[in-house]
Amino acid sequence: MNQGKRAISIRILKTIKDVSEWVEEAHSQGLTVGFVPTMGALHSGHASLISAAGEDCDRVLVSVFVNPTQFNDAADFSGYPSTPDADLALVMEHGGAAVFMPDVQEMYGQTTQVNRVDYGRLTAGWEAADRPGHFDGVVAIVDRLFHAVRPDAAFFGEKDLQQLAVVKTLARRSHPNLRIVGCPLIRDVDGLALSSRNVRLSIEARDAALILPQTLFFIREAIAAGGDPLLVLDESRRNLDENPMIELAYLDLVHGEDFSAWTPGKSGPFYAIVTAKVGGVRLLDNLQVVP
Ligand code: AMP
Repeated sequence: MNQGKRAISIRILKTIKDVSEWVEEAHSQGLTVGFVPTMGALHSGHASLISAAGEDCDRVLVSVFVNPTQFNDAADFSGYPSTPDADLALVMEHGGAAVFMPDVQEMYGQTTQVNRVDYGRLTAGWEAADRPGHFDGVVAIVDRLFHAVRPDAAFFGEKDLQQLAVVKTLARRSHPNLRIVGCPLIRDVDGLALSSRNVRLSIEARDAALILPQTLFFIREAIAAGGDPLLVLDESRRNLDENPMIELAYLDLVHGEDFSAWTPGKSGPFYAIVTAKVGGVRLLDNLQVVP
């Protein structure tokens, strides 16, 4: 258990061979390994995953890899923030023992062509519909990482709720001994969901973006007060559509595990999920609004 302990040194691993050997070494000593995959530009949301992994497992390995195959927008990929030195400091600060920082060739070889993935509605709607090919790339990299690392448990944020459901499906099908742990979404003090992309928001856009969490909390309260969830959702959608700073992709109400639609009497948990571009920056948020 390394929770609360600041690491005094950290291993930086660049190749699949090195990361496999590092994990095998831990396993040969009877230690469990928790794995936190990231795309870097780490913030307190990532830190919470590293801490959760440290509470659960003996050693924590963090990967930092901006995965080209999950971007369907070249400008989003080329503008993705990169802060490797600060990332290493944050991982050490939260007790991580090693960081896997491979290059694209190490993970993909000569071609970044990836297979199509069909997990039903999970790979058809919402993020999948708005970012064609996105989950093909996510599954390709997460599957490669799971094969390379072979951890005991892997930690993902509920911030990317649909990604978490996709990864759980991948693990059930292809990595049955691996435990996937979902961790709560972490917000900034003003309510905005923490995201590596937030640094790209102008002051004006960041201000405007607060309407996303405000909308989710409004939906939760309105439903708790007896409002019809679908009417509440319609009203909130109209409100976002009217805002000139917000380019809404979707606002919906779905089951947190399988993304099936809400119907009266069906047991939850149900989440309001929202994605919008604010000042050109794509932001995601969600909140459990029905128990
Ligand atoms: P990313 O680096 O954006 O690919 O995210 C790496 C992991 O951190 C994913 O499992 C995300 O869901 C998680 N994550 C990102 N932001 C947050 C947040 N605000 N709260 C909790 N987890 C997060």
